[in-house]
Amino acid sequence: MKTTPIVLTVMLSILTTMALGVANGADDAQQSERPVEWAIAVHGGAGGAADRLTDQQRQAREAVLGKAVRIGSDVLARGGSSLDAVEQTIRHLEDSPLFNAGRGAVLNAAGGVELDASIMDGKTLACGAVAGVTTVKNPILLARRVMTETRHVLLGGEGADEFAARQGVERVAPKYYFTQPRYQEWLKARQQQQEESADSTKGTVGCVALDKHGDLAAGTSTGGRNYKMFGRIGDSPIVGAGTYADNRTCAVSGTGIGEEYIRHAVAYDVSARMRYTGATLKDAMHAVMHETLRKGDGGLIGVDHHGAIVLDFNTPGMARGAADSSGRFEVRIGE
Ligand code: ASP
Repeated sequence: MKTTPIVLTVMLSILTTMALGVANGADDAQQSERPVEWAIAVHGGAGGAADRLTDQQRQAREAVLGKAVRIGSDVLARGGSSLDAVEQTIRHLEDSPLFNAGRGAVLNAAGGVELDASIMDGKTLACGAVAGVTTVKNPILLARRVMTETRHVLLGGEGADEFAARQGVERVAPKYYFTQPRYQEWLKARQQQQEESADSTKGTVGCVALDKHGDLAAGTSTGGRNYKMFGRIGDSPIVGAGTYADNRTCAVSGTGIGEEYIRHAVAYDVSARMRYTGATLKDAMHAVMHETLRKGDGGLIGVDHHGAIVLDFNTPGMARGAADSSGRFEVRIGE
């Protein structure tokens, strides 16, 4: 068939509109059909230190984030669930010493780790979370077990570690979490007697996903804040603060100063604004990020029920990545 230039132009303009719609996070809530089959976004923390990373450090982080996005994308492209994609993506980030979750967790004021994580299923609103665990290799996996194997939503401290043992979830000795960079950050914070040392890269991890079945899921995992008080629990294991997913609206994961995210019920607020006012994900997230929260508080990632991805932050930068079934794939550290 001979393609006339005019047909070609029309086709190109349709394709361009579709591609831009996704790339800009254009999230027309009126759309009846999803523009993409699946979508995924990840974050690796928002903070101020990205510009202080060497090229090598930046590349190493990008490589881990990129691999994490690919792991989740593969699950979704195969028709797997958004919950599986979120869990597997976060597990990869927890296993890396470069992010503040699992292996690379920051130390609390007592010099130990206390890990927090949560996961939520947008289809059923089922959710599970753990707070202050000290022996679990992959807290996100344990959070999912709380969701599926108990009648509770949040388990904390020793009880959560004991539940991990009963579930046969892999546990590790304290030295597994020990990394030199975190120890140096801790020494500096101890010397200054303050929580977050100025050059500390945050590095909490999170993932949101929409699968081919139209189901949303969100998860977040962290070591919390460097030199936090022993026993302090942040927003990451608090459903509605650091994590939220609802098929009617969106899936959201946050990173930043947990106390602010709890105070403002940040993740839930994004979803609620969409539900109550019909706001798009982009507008709902923008309002929370830039009107409710203050500059420097952190960042958010979200995907809506049409597959539009939004990545927003009010810090100098956020480590982030995104991919969807249209071929979009991006990873970025910093601004
Ligand atoms: N939100 C986490 C917390 O407060 C820390 C972070 O995201 O950097 O525990």
